[in-house]
Amino acid sequence: MLICSYMPYMVQKIYHLKIYTTKKFTRRNKKMSREYKCQSCGADISLKYRFSKTIVCGYCHQTSYLINEALTMNGDKCELSDYGSAFTVGASISVNAEVFNVAGHMRYSYADGFWDEWLIVSQKSESQYWIQDDEGDLVVYQPLLVSQLPNFENLVVGKTVEISKFEIFITEKQNAVILGSEGELPFTVISGEQADFVDGIIVSQGKPISIEYLSNETVCSIGTHILLSQIDFL
Ligand SMILES: [Zn+2]
Repeated sequence: MLICSYMPYMVQKIYHLKIYTTKKFTRRNKKMSREYKCQSCGADISLKYRFSKTIVCGYCHQTSYLINEALTMNGDKCELSDYGSAFTVGASISVNAEVFNVAGHMRYSYADGFWDEWLIVSQKSESQYWIQDDEGDLVVYQPLLVSQLPNFENLVVGKTVEISKFEIFITEKQNAVILGSEGELPFTVISGEQADFVDGIIVSQGKPISIEYLSNETVCSIGTHILLSQIDFL
C-alpha cells in the first residue's frame, strides 16, 4: 500500500506507449473463461484470457498469481490512482478496424516519475499488445522474439548493440519498479518488484525498441508510431 501513496508527485511524468504481441491462440481456446473467488475479499473473479498468470481483484485490489489452476495471493493490495488516462481496464478500443479489449494495466516508477502501460487483446485473434503513451506520442510495440537478450548491465546509453540482427542505438537506461497493476496480466508481477528498462532506436529503420527486465522474464518489443485519431474508444 505504501508505494501507492507516492503517486501524486509523479503526475507530470511522460507516458510511454507500448504494444507487444504474442502468438495467436487456437480457435479452440479462444472463448475460455474460468471462475474463481478472491482469497482476500471473496469476490467472484472470472479469468477471460488463457495467457493470464496474474490477476488483480477489481474490488479489493489484491494481486494473485494463477498457479496450477488456483489463485494464490501475492503482494500488498494497491489501488492505482486515475490520472485521466483514455484507457480503462474492461473497456474496448478499435485500431485499424480491429477491436481490442483492455485486459490489464501496469504502472511503473523510475527516477523521473512514472508511466502506464495497457495490455490490449484482439477480440478476433487474441493477440496481445501493450499500449504506452508518451505525452500524446503514441507507439504500438510488437514483440521481438529473441533467444538471448543482453544483460541490463552490459548496455550503455550512446552505444550500439546488435539484437536479433538489428543494430540498436541505446537512448535510455533506467532502474524502475512496478507501482501496481490492474486486470489480467501475462506474467507474474507484484507491486514493488524491479522492472528496469533500456530503450533504443533500430538504426536501419528509426523505430523505437524497448527491453524491460522484469523479475521473472525479459521482454523486448519493437514500436510503431500511430496517431490518437487511429484509436476509437468504444
Ligand atoms: Zn478481492
